[in-house]
Amino acid sequence: MRLIIMGPPGAGKGTQARFIAEHFGIPAISTGDIFRANVSAGTPLGVEAKRYMDAGEYVPDDVTNRMVRNRIDEPDAVGGFLLDGYPRTLAQVEELDGMIKFTGHQLDAVLSLVVDKDEVVARLLQRAQIEGRADDTEDVIRRRQEVYLEQTEPLLEVYKGRGILVEVDGLGEVTEVTQRILDALGPLDES
Ligand code: AMP
Repeated sequence: MRLIIMGPPGAGKGTQARFIAEHFGIPAISTGDIFRANVSAGTPLGVEAKRYMDAGEYVPDDVTNRMVRNRIDEPDAVGGFLLDGYPRTLAQVEELDGMIKFTGHQLDAVLSLVVDKDEVVARLLQRAQIEGRADDTEDVIRRRQEVYLEQTEPLLEVYKGRGILVEVDGLGEVTEVTQRILDALGPLDES
């Protein structure tokens, strides 16, 4: 099973990714988490990525693509994976196509969490204020949303055109949303 989960920043992708991946017995691969782990460990990749992440910009495609290629080559991802936060640009879509084709597999579905963007931004701003997160200033939060709209939202049309887009209402309790996703993926679950 090879899946992607998409949605605007703050839609709850990471949380859902973990539940869904566990259900299917595949790793949830979050590019954001891998970058953050590298930032914490002070690796050269982390040092490079941090500059972009702190500004709400995307890390350059070549850096991100190489990282994902290495990750999905690891033994635990041979039988499938759920990508959270990748691809985010059209160039990354192409790169991922190549990676999957190379292994003789295909992408089974692209999950899109549909949420009210204004509501999500309001929630993120409130959380940033309460937690005083240095990397989550209002400017950065707004920039992340802009970058998503410009560079990532168009990917939904691409996958819709391929007939593999699965749209799910992302509003509500975490467990409700998980159940909606599993129901929507039902036909794939029988395999
Ligand atoms: P996330 O936790 O998925 O929101 O990712 C946090 C940050 O990591 C993003 O704001 C980007 O700066 C960077 N990042 C994560 N995934 C990608 C990607 N596929 N392409 C470029 N940058 C990414």
